[in-house]
Amino acid sequence: AKLNANEPEFLQAVKEFLDTVYPAVEENEAYKQLNILERILEPEQLVQFRVPWVDDAGNVQVNRGFRVHFNSAIGPYKGGLRFHPTVTASVVKFLGFEQVFKNSLTGLPIGGGKGGSNFDPKGKSDMEVMRFCQSFMTELYRHIGENTDVPAGDINVGGREIGFLFGQYKRLKHSNDAGVLTGKGLTYGGSLARTEATGYGLVYLTDEMLKAKGLTFKDTTVVVSGSGNVAIYAIQKAQQLGAKVVACSDSTGYIYDAEGIDVALLQEVKEVKRARLTEYAAARPNAVYKEGSVWEIDIEYTVALPSATQNEIDLELAKKLVANGVKAVAEGANMPTTLDGVAYLQAQGVLFAPAKAANAGGVATSALEMSQNSQRLSWTFEEVDAKLKEIMQDIYKNISDTAKQYGKEDDFVTGANIAGFKKVADAMISQGIV
Ligand code: NDP
Repeated sequence: AKLNANEPEFLQAVKEFLDTVYPAVEENEAYKQLNILERILEPEQLVQFRVPWVDDAGNVQVNRGFRVHFNSAIGPYKGGLRFHPTVTASVVKFLGFEQVFKNSLTGLPIGGGKGGSNFDPKGKSDMEVMRFCQSFMTELYRHIGENTDVPAGDINVGGREIGFLFGQYKRLKHSNDAGVLTGKGLTYGGSLARTEATGYGLVYLTDEMLKAKGLTFKDTTVVVSGSGNVAIYAIQKAQQLGAKVVACSDSTGYIYDAEGIDVALLQEVKEVKRARLTEYAAARPNAVYKEGSVWEIDIEYTVALPSATQNEIDLELAKKLVANGVKAVAEGANMPTTLDGVAYLQAQGVLFAPAKAANAGGVATSALEMSQNSQRLSWTFEEVDAKLKEIMQDIYKNISDTAKQYGKEDDFVTGANIAGFKKVADAMISQGIV
């Protein structure tokens, strides 16, 4: 902890992990003798770099870029890029650390990495975003490759940014390595269903968790936070399963739409116009817009899907969820619930699916994109979606069986951490002290 004293998000992710994996370490002599915990907590590499670019007014701007190569024991580093003013080494390390175990849970051969920049794309023109992406890739390209490290999107990095990044990578490498980035457009190597994958996967896993307790999405009221890539497709899939999704948010406020969110309108406002939710409310006379956190909402509902950012549900808001009747929380975002928030929800008997398991559908489908790129084939939407659903069902089974095996039935945090950890730890042990 001393070494990382200025990295609160990383320490939070590590604490949750260490609090739950000890039983798996205690029972394994090799893990203890070969100091697996200390090794697994240390990233293989972390690069930080200057990203200079010129804005539309001709001013020179400077941002900070990062890429962490956390663990390559089971495959090439894989994980998204985040562009947001809150991005620091600590945020990138917490995301990279969680990614290692998430990727392990997918059952696919991918290691863990993450990256990004404190660049804020809000209010920037397409040309400014392009110049930033080109400058970012001018350094990043040295650290990635289709067999080394394969970045994807995350907050504020979607199809537009991946396109600009890929275009610059090709110029620098003089090589059309489609497999170097995932989340690409469908005209140049992208996979059908990748856009939908994290949100759909979140709902597939939550559905398994609900069904195991005799619950269902059908006619269930759901609240989602965020209105970005994960949130939009979680809302869409939950609605397809018969749920009533009545609220979602952006970084300034939330909408409550008692008739159920109109996904086509939400897509038009957020994906096409890149506008605020106030525009959604303006177009739907019965929807109400309020400033503040969506988790302050005062309505009865059953399922909460936090899909915006880290630490959005603290202990106070966790209490509010329970008071509102919430029976299940599944994390679409990474670490959206604080440690005391998680402990409270679990103590109250709320079903809780942690991000590592619940939002693994995105990276799993990215790995399917890599497979299609190396085969030079494109699978149909239905094929990819069916594989995604199967992967999420397998993840649920794995984390719930593992929790049971360690005497922690329905503690999916312990289940996910131990199941994800053991595969990576075994691969590290097999490869020697590296
Ligand atoms: P997007 O950029 O598409 O959307 C993010 C949404 O969350 C936006 O509505 C944004 O508000 C809101 N938001 C972002 N930061 C904050 C903040 N600090 N406070 C309040 N609201 C905020 O990102 P994604 O949907 O891709 O990512 C959301 C979460 O899901 C992240 O935690 C990410 O790591 C995780 N995730 C994403 C995956 C993916 O495939 N995309 C895969 C696995 C996890 P506004 O509209 O105002 O910008």
